Amino acid sequence: MENQILDGKALSLRIREEIRLEILTGLAEGKPRPGLATILVGQDPASEVYVRNKRRACEAAGLVNEHIELPADAGQQQLLQQVQAYNEDPAIHGILVQLPLPKGLDYDENQVLKTILPEKDVDGFHPLNQGALMQGNLAPRPCTPKGIMVLLKEAGLEDLSGKKAVVVGRSNIVGKPIALMLLERNATVTICHSRTKDLEAEIKSADVVVAAVGVPQLVRGEWIRPGATVIDVGINRGADGKLVGDVDFETAKKTARKITPVPGGVGPMTIAMLLRNTVEAAWN
Ligand code: NAD
Repeated sequence: MENQILDGKALSLRIREEIRLEILTGLAEGKPRPGLATILVGQDPASEVYVRNKRRACEAAGLVNEHIELPADAGQQQLLQQVQAYNEDPAIHGILVQLPLPKGLDYDENQVLKTILPEKDVDGFHPLNQGALMQGNLAPRPCTPKGIMVLLKEAGLEDLSGKKAVVVGRSNIVGKPIALMLLERNATVTICHSRTKDLEAEIKSADVVVAAVGVPQLVRGEWIRPGATVIDVGINRGADGKLVGDVDFETAKKTARKITPVPGGVGPMTIAMLLRNTVEAAWN
């Protein structure tokens, strides 16, 4: 069997170039330049890298990026005021508050997410947008699962009728929304999590595996059914400082039909979908 890497980096660059050209065309037609506001609270090094990459991608595609950094102890009220100011700013079509917010202070992430106007919620985390996803309605969708669906389409898996998908992880940002999106594409979906009894047996039955756990190489290559497609969302720092996923890539790629690498798989697609959501928020 020919094994194939699902190259999210290359695909995301193609999509970002498409978006750049769409923006040029849109501007020529008199549409507004899409604008994304990014808010970073505190100095978490991983969050700093994520936000920097998102900002660079915006600028390269021709979106406006307004960025604000608040000190870790700025507090909930100041953060909410900043979100409110962007809600009212007509040049800003998307608002992203980088999560997680600093621990041990009075931040309430749910309240912050609820304060972003649903139509400017380009992360797709507002409860109304999450509800819309559950009902199968159009609304901004979370970027990571949205990117995974594009990767699956690229892998020839647009319709998942008759396929079994196993999602490992039940977070609001990846596990639950990707399960709903796979269901929407007609997969038979199982969600596994930390209390699942026999993860190995579940994964062995899957045509599509989505691992979003945060445990390095939890999913063993021997568990992958021959011909399955494997999407690795995990971003973990190995003992040697290198990034590793939730799947043991070297062994899994021997059996998988298609597999995403870490880095270079899901991560770059998340950023491309953030740009896509911002353009949609500006123009739809
Ligand atoms: P999370 O940290 O909120 O939750 C982890 C989930 O894994 C939980 O639902 C838990 O039940 C489950 N879990 C924990 N241990 C388990 C085990 N031994 N067996 C089965 N399930 C187990 O999840 P998250 O925020 O979705 O993040 C998951 C991973 O994905 C992290 O590594 C994160 O960095 C990464 N991530 C990557 C991107 C990207 O763009 N590539 C985006 C979001 C998250």
